[in-house]
This record gives sequence, structure tokens and C-alpha cells, in this order.
Amino acid sequence: MSSIEWFDGGDADAIYGLLGQEYEHPTRLLPALCPVCGQLGVHLAFHAWYDTRPSRGGGWAWCSSCHGYGHGSWVVPVWWRNIPGVSIHDLTFSPGTLDDRAALVDEHWNLLVNELERVTT
Ligand SMILES: [Zn+2]
Repeated sequence: MSSIEWFDGGDADAIYGLLGQEYEHPTRLLPALCPVCGQLGVHLAFHAWYDTRPSRGGGWAWCSSCHGYGHGSWVVPVWWRNIPGVSIHDLTFSPGTLDDRAALVDEHWNLLVNELERVTT
């Protein structure tokens, strides 16, 4: 198990806010600039509980550098597809298990963003 202490609320709300900003038309590539510590440490992810859309699911935003995060229940965006190899059993309230796979999370997010760019331009 990871021994990282994650914090939410307070300053970390600025990190969580990035997830909402990307909800409709994501444009940020990951890792993104952290509004708290200024490092390129922010990762964003959803996980849909169901294959249908709209589906309820979870959303996470966290920084690998300062360890701020936010997590909550979301109707996942229509463009989202779950990260290959990540199942609901891997997920916890805090983002530690996702942070362990941050490179995979970023690669998947960036793939989806690039696909959307091609569709809309
Ligand atoms: Zn940070």
C-alpha cells in the first residue's frame, strides 16, 4: 500500500475544479499544471459504472506532486471510455490506486482528447 497522505477540500478544490472545466470539451493534455503547487502533476479520470451513456460513475482529479485531490460522483461525460485494465475494484475514494498508474491514466485521457480534436476540427 502507498503511504501517501492525500488531502481534499481547501486548496485542493482548485485541482478538483479542473475536472469540471474539462467535462464538456476537454482540451487539457495530462499531466496538467497544478493550480496549487505549480508542478505538472495533475491527472484527471472518470470511471463509468455502466457501459451505457449517460452513466453514473466517479470522477477524480489529483496532483502527484502536492497530493491534493478531489473525488465525487458524476454522470460521466459522453466522450469518456473507461481506462483499459482499471476496474471498479481498483478504485478507492482517494486517488492512490489511480496515481500508481498515472502514466496509463494520462495516456488514455490524452488519446480521448486527441480523438475529440479530430472529430471537431
Ligand atoms: Zn500540486
